[in-house]
Amino acid sequence: MKTAVYPGSFDPITLGHLNIIERSAAVFDKLYVCVMINSDKKPMFTREERMDMIRDAVEAAGLKNVEVETAGGLLVEYAKSKNANAIVRGLRAVSDFDWEFQMALANKCIAPDIETVFLASSEKFTYLSSTIVKEMARYGADLQGFVPANVIDKIMQKV
Ligand code: ADP
Repeated sequence: MKTAVYPGSFDPITLGHLNIIERSAAVFDKLYVCVMINSDKKPMFTREERMDMIRDAVEAAGLKNVEVETAGGLLVEYAKSKNANAIVRGLRAVSDFDWEFQMALANKCIAPDIETVFLASSEKFTYLSSTIVKEMARYGADLQGFVPANVIDKIMQKV
C-alpha cells in the first residue's frame, strides 16, 4: 500500500491545495493531509479550524482515501508514524523551488526511505496562495473560484 503525507499550513485551504489533494489521492492508496505548525507564519485560523475546513472540502470532493490530521515536531517523524512512502508538496513557481528543494534534501537525510514528490500546480492556481486569499478577503473581493465553498464564510467572519 502506497501512503503519502501532504503537509502544510493550509491557513486556509485554497482550491490550489485541494487540486493537489485530489491528484495525490488518485496516485496514492492513502493520503494524510497534515496541518503543521510553521513558526514563520502567524495564522488566521486555529489548527482545529483549519482541519475542519479541509475535512469539509475533502468530503464535498468525495475523496474517501484522505484523512486530515495535525502534528507538531518533525514532519518525517509524523510521516514515519503513518508508514508513509512519500511526502507530497506542490510547486507553483520558481520562487517555491529553493525552499522546497532544501526541505526535500534535509528530509531525505533524516529519512532516506521517504521520497518527496512534487506536483506542479495546475495552471489555473499557479498564482494562488492562502496569503493572497486573505488579502483579497480584507478588501472584500469575491472569493469564489479561489477557495472551496465551505471556506468563504469562515474567512469573511475573520476579516
Ligand atoms: P507551507 O507553510 O508548508 O508552505 P502552505 O499551506 O502555504 O504551507 O502550502 C502547503 C503546500 O501546498 C506547499 O507545498 C505549497 O507549495 C503547496 N501549495 C500552496 N498553494 C498551492 C497552489 N496554488 N498550487 C499548488 N500547490 C500549492
